[in-house]
Amino acid sequence: MPEGDSLHRAARKLQVLVGERVAVETPNPRAAAAVPADRLDGRKLEAVEAVGKNLLLSFEGGLVLRSHLRMSGRWQVVDRGAARHGKPWLVLSGREREALLWNGPVLELSARATRRLGPDILAVPPDFDGMVANLRGVPQARELGDALLDQRLVAGIGNVWKAESLWRARLSPWLRLADVDDEELERVLREAALLMRASVDRRTDGRAVYKRAGRPCRRCGEPIRSRGQGDANRTAYWCPRCQPER
Ligand SMILES: [Zn+2]
Repeated sequence: MPEGDSLHRAARKLQVLVGERVAVETPNPRAAAAVPADRLDGRKLEAVEAVGKNLLLSFEGGLVLRSHLRMSGRWQVVDRGAARHGKPWLVLSGREREALLWNGPVLELSARATRRLGPDILAVPPDFDGMVANLRGVPQARELGDALLDQRLVAGIGNVWKAESLWRARLSPWLRLADVDDEELERVLREAALLMRASVDRRTDGRAVYKRAGRPCRRCGEPIRSRGQGDANRTAYWCPRCQPER
């Protein structure tokens, strides 16, 4: 199964095409249905990077092609025009080399400039695996509440939803990433996605901790606390009893 390191290897292989205008074909009909090759054909490939379990290929004009390799997907770089056996999903041809993507991965083209952003918390469905992988890819001494606001790791969580989702997940913003397991990371991300989706749909049951410092926790009655967190010193709100530091 492709893990982070094989994705990083694939990203490194594909660097030979970065900066070139590439011809784009989708020989596999399922890939042709997923990606309109004519929207990419002839554009300059600006960057290739591994983010979580995805490879993001950024083309000029803000188009980003996301390739998730699942179990079987594989990128290969060969000389342009080399003999092929079978129908690759995608072929990116530069002047001298071409990159081929083999075997049923997830391919998705988006027009957002997402190259520097983590997976979108409001995506349907959200890529929780990618978010957890990003959170594990930074120094684990970082505080959970600070990391959740880092848009390069998870895109879309702001200070309100950080506070509310941590309260719901019963996790302190002051825990180090090293102190929480993957299930806990996913739990707080799921709470954030639920709350934010509800907010988008204008369904809300009010705030439990945000800007409620000194008022009683709705679950346990303990006064909510607040303190600045992270380099930007954004105020964290939490219940010291429901969200203990370990
Ligand atoms: Zn409480």
